[in-house]
Amino acid sequence: MTYAELNTPLRTIMTPGPVEVDPRVLRVMSTPIVGQFDPAFTSIMNEVMEMLRKVFQTNNEWAFPVDGTSRSGIEALLCSMIEPGDKVLVPIFGRFGHLLTEICERYEADVYTMECEWGEVFDEQEVINEIQKISPKITAIVHGETSTGRIQPLQKIGAACRELDVLFVVDAVASIAGTEIKVDDWFIDGIVAGTQKCLSVPSGMSPITYNERIEKVIAARKKVERGISTAEDRENEIERDHPIIKSNYFDISMLQDYWGPRRLNHHTEATSMLYALREGLRIVLDEGLETRFNRHRIHEQALMAGIESMGLGLFGNPDCKLPTVTCVKIPDGVDAESVRCMLLNEFGIEIASSFGSLKGKIWRIGTMGYSCRKENILFTLGALEAVLIRHGVNVHTGKALQAALDSYTMVGKESIGQ
Ligand SMILES: *Cc1c(COP(=O)(O)O)cnc(C)c1O
Repeated sequence: MTYAELNTPLRTIMTPGPVEVDPRVLRVMSTPIVGQFDPAFTSIMNEVMEMLRKVFQTNNEWAFPVDGTSRSGIEALLCSMIEPGDKVLVPIFGRFGHLLTEICERYEADVYTMECEWGEVFDEQEVINEIQKISPKITAIVHGETSTGRIQPLQKIGAACRELDVLFVVDAVASIAGTEIKVDDWFIDGIVAGTQKCLSVPSGMSPITYNERIEKVIAARKKVERGISTAEDRENEIERDHPIIKSNYFDISMLQDYWGPRRLNHHTEATSMLYALREGLRIVLDEGLETRFNRHRIHEQALMAGIESMGLGLFGNPDCKLPTVTCVKIPDGVDAESVRCMLLNEFGIEIASSFGSLKGKIWRIGTMGYSCRKENILFTLGALEAVLIRHGVNVHTGKALQAALDSYTMVGKESIGQ
């Protein structure tokens, strides 16, 4: 029996990830493999670390990808920091807050949560009050919540954490390279990014960065022969009363020894993915962070103008809308899945459904990275209008594309689509 060569369809992907990958990234992925200790490769590793620092806007020494999907970075950071019984505060405003909670619980943290209604975010002071009350070792929070399309302000929480000596860990998987994140200025101690969202690289790596406050916590848990302190430990006054990190794969002290100048063997680096990440980061820095954030805004505005002009409603508090995800209320009586299927089958466009309490209530349209282009926005609006008409929805025919085009004219940058 023989199988046909792989033949993947060309899609317009307007979900909150995975999104379309820049052709330049796909191209570098087909370049030859080099050994992981080959100087040709280690210099790529060093470049990636340098580029990551720029994208994270940090001076941290440590910035490297964890191999695995985005949650691998979250798990690596948290499992390397959390000792059983450690207090962790997780403010939850959507699905990914629950993921943070679940990971912390698995590593036996004493987890405190606070929740707000989906579609809202927290008033920073509210979180700070809770931090003061609980005195956690770690506060872990999502920045861009893809499940609800909201963005949580972080700077004041970060400043309070620093003042109260609480470690501040952020999930920026959906926001990195799509909207502003200033790791150092916002007093973020550890942060996790993803590749398949605004970086427009395939899923499979999770870039992280963390500062010396976290490095110290992790160093104290480094695996050494039990009961014997090394000269290095004595010098750093590290006392061995901390349990070692429970995961080999996610042990950040080992990843650090692999990415750092010691280059101690740990895992086999995902060579082709690292090429992809390097190219993705290079493209981000070549476009420029400000220009890139602005581009995401411009296309988001055009999309929202189109959706509303069609007569559809947007979900959630507009004051905290995540620029990279737009949540659209599903009109009453419409078969939401049938609409998504028709978009895919007739137009090759993919939009996302939703989770939990929002299931069946909203569609989510991503405007991320390479997918975030004028042609995609216009195509999606035109197709959605046509499909909704086929589903008997009384939309304001012809308005959506005009509103989007007006929105582009207004910013006076019609060439921004590329
Ligand atoms: C997508 C996403 C994740 C998880 O990413 P995986 O690659 O599926 O592991 C985590 N957090 C947020 C905010 C996300 O949007």
